Amino acid sequence: MDDNNKEGENNMQDCIFCKIIKKEIPSQPVYEDNEILAFKDINPVAPVHILVIPKKHLNSINDLSAQDSEVIGNIFLIIKKLAAELGIADTGYRVVVNTGADGGQQVGHLHYHLIGGKPLGTKIC
Ligand code: AMP
Ligand code: ZN
Repeated sequence: MDDNNKEGENNMQDCIFCKIIKKEIPSQPVYEDNEILAFKDINPVAPVHILVIPKKHLNSINDLSAQDSEVIGNIFLIIKKLAAELGIADTGYRVVVNTGADGGQQVGHLHYHLIGGKPLGTKIC
């Protein structure tokens, strides 16, 4: 593998989620505004599995700075809205942000997994 393009550290040009934002590859969007996109995970692990991403390319939580605090706050408000719309607000859900190699991050564009629609158990992993 090219050392400059390790998983979790890809650049914007190669980033699959940036391509989804630019509509260069298809997705199933469920929410979009100027700064945030939410779309269905292509390989869902539960009846509801949505990815919520900032349109700004950030590899991971490790790339966040103070100027990103508003969009990160807004992502949680969108997660709340989607959970209600998708009927899982009351039954419950899990929000996951895999980060880096040990965190199991496969796509190097910060994303929030919104997972629900079935009992997920009490174990995180
Ligand atoms: P992570 O392991 O946290 O990096 O999660 C990456 C997620 O992206 C996985 O759940 C994949 O199923 C999902 N994924 C990868 N490619 C696509 C795609 N083209 N459209 C939607 N979801 C995708
Ligand atoms: Zn990206």
